[in-house]
Amino acid sequence: MKIALLLLWVVVVTALLLPLLRRALAPPPRRPAALRDELVKDPVCQTYVVRSRAVRALARGEPVYFCSDDCARRYAAQLGG
Ligand SMILES: [Zn+2]
Repeated sequence: MKIALLLLWVVVVTALLLPLLRRALAPPPRRPAALRDELVKDPVCQTYVVRSRAVRALARGEPVYFCSDDCARRYAAQLGG
């Protein structure tokens, strides 16, 4: 009976400590900021925008990034003539 209790205690402690141990032994790899959030230039108003927040549109098969829907529309109008 005592051994069963001891085993249970070991299991509980291990379950509690394992996530902490794992975190301590293998920290998550930190990617450079450039890879996560690149700055892209809005071709209409020449503003730099963070890519993840930019408005994306395709122009001649290439992705183009804008600061707003308004700029994307203006760009499309320019392309149309
Ligand atoms: Zn813009």
